[in-house]
Amino acid sequence: MYKNRELVVDLNSFEFKKTIDTILESDLSEEVELLKPVTVHIDLYKDKDSVIVTGRVSTAVQEVCARCLKPVVIEVDGTIEATYVHEDMLVRSDEGPAEALENLLKLEGELLDLSDRVIEAIIVEVPLKTICSTDCAGLCSLCGADLNENPDHKCQHSAENDDKWHRAVSELKDRLKS
Ligand SMILES: [Zn+2]
Ligand SMILES: [Zn+2]
Repeated sequence: MYKNRELVVDLNSFEFKKTIDTILESDLSEEVELLKPVTVHIDLYKDKDSVIVTGRVSTAVQEVCARCLKPVVIEVDGTIEATYVHEDMLVRSDEGPAEALENLLKLEGELLDLSDRVIEAIIVEVPLKTICSTDCAGLCSLCGADLNENPDHKCQHSAENDDKWHRAVSELKDRLKS
């Protein structure tokens, strides 16, 4: 798994508050294609039982339009909010309401790796289905012509296809007869 040294925090390295300001140049995961470096600002607040993490990440990622398949640039401005608690605390809070468990993560050891928090903050900002514009006309379902560029496209492809299909069927029939 991808590890970024700047996002791994030694919990012994600070008393109460620590701030991470960094710019990540490399790709963080295979799930997102970054178009520019990720600007990260994270504040960590530590007390006896927990570490509260808040932050902002900004970058731009590339997706493809679900209708016309053209690349689309998505500006990402994500937030990080997570609370890390020791395992015994986590067990106790299991009895509480479900919302209390949201963003509650287990604190393991003295090193806290925030890479996944950064990746998550980016991914949740990327829509499940990207379209280049709400009035994107998409592609012709028969020949793949871009209907944004060819608004008057009248597809010749279906007639040809039908011909091929009929020819194939009649050839098959002939072969079965013989
Ligand atoms: Zn499109
Ligand atoms: Zn067509």
